[in-house]
This record gives sequence, C-alpha cells and structure tokens, in this order.
Amino acid sequence: MLLSGLGLAQNIEQKLIEILAKGQKQGLAPPKLAIIHGNDSPASKIYIKKKIEKCTQLGCQAELFSFSPFSTKKEVLELVSKLNVDQKIHGILCQLPVFKHWDGNEILQAISPKKDVDGLHPENMGLLLMEKPRFIPCTPQGILWLLDFYQFNLQGKHAFILGRSSIVGRPLSILLSQKKRNMSVTLCHSYSKNWRSLVALADLLIVAVGKPHLLSEETLKKDAIVIDVGVNSTLENGISTTLGDVDTQKIEPKVAAVSQVPGGVGPLTIVSLIYNLCLAAGYPCTQTEMAKPKVFSDKDPK
Ligand code: NAP
Repeated sequence: MLLSGLGLAQNIEQKLIEILAKGQKQGLAPPKLAIIHGNDSPASKIYIKKKIEKCTQLGCQAELFSFSPFSTKKEVLELVSKLNVDQKIHGILCQLPVFKHWDGNEILQAISPKKDVDGLHPENMGLLLMEKPRFIPCTPQGILWLLDFYQFNLQGKHAFILGRSSIVGRPLSILLSQKKRNMSVTLCHSYSKNWRSLVALADLLIVAVGKPHLLSEETLKKDAIVIDVGVNSTLENGISTTLGDVDTQKIEPKVAAVSQVPGGVGPLTIVSLIYNLCLAAGYPCTQTEMAKPKVFSDKDPK
C-alpha cells in the first residue's frame, strides 16, 4: 500500500481554518510567522515559498527577513532579539542551513522558546525528552500524524531510523520510544557499520538521509511500514524529478506500506508548522484532534 499525506494534510488544514476562524471571533490575532533566511540554497528558497504560501492560504501571516552573504551573525542575532519581543510575531523560524560564518545553533538558541515553532530550541528539545512537548519538530510530528491516521499499531515493535539529524531522526527516536508509542528504537547514521543487515528486523523503517533510492534491494519484513522522508531533486535529460531515499517501486511489493514521495511526509511537515504557529499564537488545538484515523473503504487496498 502507498501511504499518502495529501488527504490528511488537507483534513488538518480544514481543522486549522475552523480553529483560526473561531479564535478570531473570540478576539485572537491572526498568527504571524517570521522567517529568517540566510543561505544561498535554491532548495531553501522553494521551502520558504511553500511555507509562506501555506501560511497565507490558511489565514495566517508571514514575514520574510532575507540576509545577504555579507550579513554578520551579530545582525541576525539583533533581529532575533527584536522579533522575540515583538507582540505581533508569534512564531520565528530560521531556515536551515545558514551561511557558514553564522552559527546555526547559536541562532536557534537565541529564538524565544515560546516562539520556536520548529521545536529546535534546547528548552523545547528538553521538554520533548521529558514527554511534555511544547512544540514537536515539524517533520517528526507529521510522521506521527501519518502513522496515527493509518492506524498502525506499533506498540512494543521495533523502529529502525536511518539518519540522526536534529530535525528528523533524533527527535523521532525520542518520540517513538516514549510511553505513548512504546517502540524499541535503533538509530543509525553514516558511521553505522552493517545497517543494511539491521533493516530486516524493522517493523517501522524511517529513512531520512538525502540519498536518492538508497534503499532498494534490501530484504524487509513482509508487514513492515516504511516512511520515506528523503527529498532528492535529480536532473535527467533536462527533466527534473523528485526522488525519495527509498525506491518505492521495488520496495512496495515487499512490505505492508510505504509512504510516497512526493506527497507523503512533505505536505504534513508544512501543515505541522502551521499547527505549531497556531499553538504559539494561543489557539486551542490538540494533537489528537489533528490526525483522526482514516476511515477505510472497500476501495482501499488491503
Ligand atoms: P541531514 O541533516 O543531512 O542528515 C542526514 C543523515 O543521514 C545523517 O545522520 C547522516 O549521518 C546520515 N547518512 C548520510 N549518508 C548515509 C549513508 N550512506 N548511510 C547511512 N546514513 C547516512 O539530513 P536531514 O535534514 O535529516 O534530511 C534528510 C532527507 O530528508 C533530505 O533528503 C531532506 O531533503 C529530507 N527532508 C524532508 C522533509 C520533508 O518534509 N519531507 C523534511 C526534512 C528533511 P551522519 O550524522 O553520520 O552525517
């Protein structure tokens, strides 16, 4: 079965639109996001464009603060200080990576934890560790929603995560091992020696590496669930294609389910950001109401 995040993302967007309308009737201000952009990556430009579009589409506001390669770390830290106390700004995100002469971690730490809608500030990471999250990082939150939507019962089972970044793999390893999920977790990375032999033991396999079709020939459990986080743009004969880290065509027949790329985790990551922004602006939204389980019909693949 191919797992799509598109329908779920639309459901969540609809719920957020309702929550926003209700909150604004009660006097809440429209949530406003500040985006700090300090890098030359074309991919970042696309991500930022999508985030701004989604904000405005759902009735939130966004303001972009772009820096040139000549801007100093001091300048960006001064901006963060201003945004932290600006009452019209509810959420601040710094698009990663940032210019080499800036220090990404120092910028993340300077953002007020109550406005840190990416959930990457040390205080928010600490709350996550304590099972009392304020903001769950966007991609892990989107993945959890996807798993809940499809009603996979993964309690007590084995999650294998490939990729240990602080935005995806590492927070996911914490979330899946918590009491709410009760999974046993293996977290691997580029230094892990025989990770390919370990994937055969996974009930849930999450791949977040950034290498097109890194997983294709492996033997996996028949009932494994595979979540492909990778987004890799390739250019062949002048045609640009987006590929995941998993070769879906080869893997899908061997397992119970695999998420599609594009249209799997990606749309959920963006809507998860808007959810966190609504939380930061004081709108009453809850995790559980976002990913109500999918109602399966006879037409759905078994
Ligand atoms: P990242 O920070 O570059 O981390 C990649 C991870 O993969 C690192 O832990 C790295 O190990 C590991 N790795 C690299 N090569 C490996 C190999 N050959 N074998 C095993 N592990 C390997 O990447 P990221 O930011 O987490 O993103 C990963 C992918 O997900 C990218 O394609 C990105 O575009 C995509 N992404 C998608 C979404 C979405 O919403 N769909 C969101 C975020 C990211 P080391 O730690 O040892 O270097």
